[in-house]
This record gives sequence, C-alpha cells and structure tokens, in this order.
Amino acid sequence: MVISSKTLPDKTVERLSQYRRNLLICLAKGKQHIFSHEIAQLHHITPVQVRRDIMLIGYSGTLRKGYDVKELIDLIGKILDTDEGLRVGVIGVGNLGRSLIGYFNGKRSKLSIVAGFDANPDKVDKVYAGVHCYHFDKLSEIIARENISIGIITVPAEQAADVAEKLVIAGIKGILNFTPKPLNVSPHVYLQEYDMVTSLEKVAYFVKKQAGI
Ligand code: ATP
Repeated sequence: MVISSKTLPDKTVERLSQYRRNLLICLAKGKQHIFSHEIAQLHHITPVQVRRDIMLIGYSGTLRKGYDVKELIDLIGKILDTDEGLRVGVIGVGNLGRSLIGYFNGKRSKLSIVAGFDANPDKVDKVYAGVHCYHFDKLSEIIARENISIGIITVPAEQAADVAEKLVIAGIKGILNFTPKPLNVSPHVYLQEYDMVTSLEKVAYFVKKQAGI
C-alpha cells in the first residue's frame, strides 16, 4: 500500500473525512468489507468518484469483496491525522465559541481544543467545558506555549480580519473562519471559511421557492 505524498484536492480530503465517519459506523456493526457503490450510496455520489478518491490515496479493493473496512479506516487516518494530534484554539468564547468547545472536545482523538481566547475580562480565566479562556492579548504567548497550530475564529464579523492577522503573526498554520467575513491570509496558512448564515439563507431560499412563497 503506497501512501501518496502529494497534496490531495480539497474535495477529496472532505470526502475522506466523511467516508471515515460512515466506515466507522459500518465497522461497529460488524461489516468487514464494503463496495464502492455502497460507500457512494451513503454519500449520494457516484461509485466512480469513490473509487477515484480511494485510488488517490493509493488503495484498492478486490472485485469480489470490495474494500477492507478496517484497512481503509486506518489508511484514511494515516492521511488525515498526525501521530501526535493537532492542538486547536478558539478565538471568541461567545455563544458560538462555547458551543464548539462543548461539542467538539472528545470527538476526535487527534484534534483537541486546548485554549479559548477572548477580549472580555469577564470571560478571561474561566474554564468552558474543560478549556481555559485566556485574554486575547496573550494569543502569541499561549499559541507558542501550547503548540497550537489551528485557530477557530468565532468573534463578531467586524473583528475577524484583525484576529486573523494576529493569528498569522502568532504562527498559526490553519484557520477555520466561522464568521461571515471572508478573510485574506498568507498563502502559507490554510484557510477554511464556514459561513453558517449564508448556508442557512441558501436553504431558506430553496424552501421559499419550493413552497411558492
Ligand atoms: P456573549 O453573550 O457570551 O458575549 P455572543 O455570542 O453574544 O456571546 P459575540 O458578540 O458574537 O458574543 O462575540 C463573540 C465573542 O467574541 C464574545 O465573547 C466577545 O467578547 C469576543 N470578542 C469580540 N471581539 C473580540 C476580539 N477582538 N478579540 C477576542 N475576542 C473578541
């Protein structure tokens, strides 16, 4: 089995993460092998797409049995995870930041939220779902000390650009931006925008169209 050292396309990485979640459920139900068309059905995509993604990570199944579920899970783990895991900080411990901390911790063994940051003194030095909240002024110091490589931005939109700039200066490697403000960051930092409000408005538009209202 050859693990490709090439960077995979964004969409493939997204789908590998989604495949793994369903493969883990299959494994828990005692299913040891799975065909590409079964994976495709679970994800509402074509079997060709599934086979292409899995070929890109250097794996192939057998015609008779399909893919070995456990082997595929382990291989996706090797592609997506790091051995020691990655440490994450949340900037903006408001309603959204607190929900993410509460929701996420413990869900992935290789990713953990280890610090929160906020500018509001009432939140500083409080612990939310086991995660200490530091003053935003300590961003660089704590990022270095805690070896944090990913920052999740959950401050109000108008603060997002400033926070992103400080994260980049602090040496962060990846940013997940939960605000509706699109960001510009150095090409050395991987940026993922996740605009919930736009997603919801998109759903609302199609609901409106469908209902003829
Ligand atoms: P709460 O009611 O707990 O304040 P909220 O969800 O209404 O939460 P928002 O106004 O969305 O709060 O702000 C999110 C969080 O971001 C807040 O905790 C706020 O103190 C914090 N925040 C705002 N500006 C900054 C900044 N520049 N740096 C760090 N944190 C900030």
